[in-house]
Amino acid sequence: MPDILSIASAMESFKTITEIVRGIKQAAKSLEDAQINYQIAELTNALADLKLALADVKEENITLREEINSLKKSRDLRSLLTIKDNVYLPVSGEIDDYGKGPWCTNCYDSNSILVTLHHKSSIVVGDYMSNKFECPKCKSSTSAQKNKRC
Ligand SMILES: [Zn+2]
Repeated sequence: MPDILSIASAMESFKTITEIVRGIKQAAKSLEDAQINYQIAELTNALADLKLALADVKEENITLREEINSLKKSRDLRSLLTIKDNVYLPVSGEIDDYGKGPWCTNCYDSNSILVTLHHKSSIVVGDYMSNKFECPKCKSSTSAQKNKRC
């Protein structure tokens, strides 16, 4: 789960490093080797902390980019769907990588996944054919009517 703690941690490390560098400059003026070595060790530790914090920021950034891409893809897919007789169908013809449907409205509306419905039976009434479908994932069933002449 992305959070902003690692960004705050990276900024804190940067502040610490800045203070250590200031300390090294002052120690260098007085030429005290022990003090300079101590400051360099502190600087090395602060840099290691910064490196870890930045790795967390990088990981969060990747996660956020993936989430953004997933949301964009979901939004784009939604614009290609239409609901007819309680099933999702392509607005026109076929959707690349997904086919022709029909897809389960329950699965798409609740989990944003397109699950192709399984055809269970057909009943002909007059000019209409009623097809019964079942979702293999959520097990919901639905009927879709179709004019036989179409
Ligand atoms: Zn379903």
